[in-house]
Amino acid sequence: MSTIADNLSTLAERIRSAALAAGRAPEHVRLLAVSKTKPADAVREAYAAGVRDVGENYLQEALAKQLELSDLPLTWHFIGPIQSNKTRAIAEHFDWVHSVDRLKIAQRLSEQRPADLPPLNVCLQVNVSGEASKSGCNPEALPALAQAIAALPRLTLRGLMAIPEPTDDPAAQAAAFARVRELQAGLNLGLDTLSMGMSHDLEAAIAQGATWVRIGTALFGARDYGQV
Ligand SMILES: *Cc1c(COP(=O)(O)O)cnc(C)c1O
Repeated sequence: MSTIADNLSTLAERIRSAALAAGRAPEHVRLLAVSKTKPADAVREAYAAGVRDVGENYLQEALAKQLELSDLPLTWHFIGPIQSNKTRAIAEHFDWVHSVDRLKIAQRLSEQRPADLPPLNVCLQVNVSGEASKSGCNPEALPALAQAIAALPRLTLRGLMAIPEPTDDPAAQAAAFARVRELQAGLNLGLDTLSMGMSHDLEAAIAQGATWVRIGTALFGARDYGQV
């Protein structure tokens, strides 16, 4: 069985090759280690191998791991669906939120971000797969929503996040990620972040400008049966 350190070096090489093939600097693509369903010890092992950014989908699970790992200087990213009653804890305990998809959630995060912390980095999740996915704002709503969120005082709007419908077709992967890149460019807000690409499609995402790839399986191994 390969270790997390082995997996990380394989991933670093995949990221590097994909960036160079796209004429991009490899250091402009960062790896977000997605540790949902994985124990704190796995994150500790990833940290020892060089991981510094960790993504979690479920608040309670994330808070428990943060407590166990409070001795490590990790940057925590929230990447899961957000219910209104969870915004305060998210605003208090995370450095980034990739999954903002409506104004009400953004307003609450801004209001609830503690004054002694820097503004919360947020990405606006956009649904580029239509009916196939329920998460994310629809592309038509994006410009107005992005403008409103960019104006909130305690958030820094960094860019867009997307989870396109999974497919093995490289052309379909490229088209979905290109759409996200074009939507971002069309906003004209000077955003610097594209959070897109997972274990199976990171190469296609990097070719279209991904700056965060969110990697679970290829780093930590398959998630337990029955878990997301
Ligand atoms: C689980 C998850 C990932 C990681 O997916 P893998 O295919 O395991 O790499 C990335 N982003 C989000 C939003 C996720 O929920």
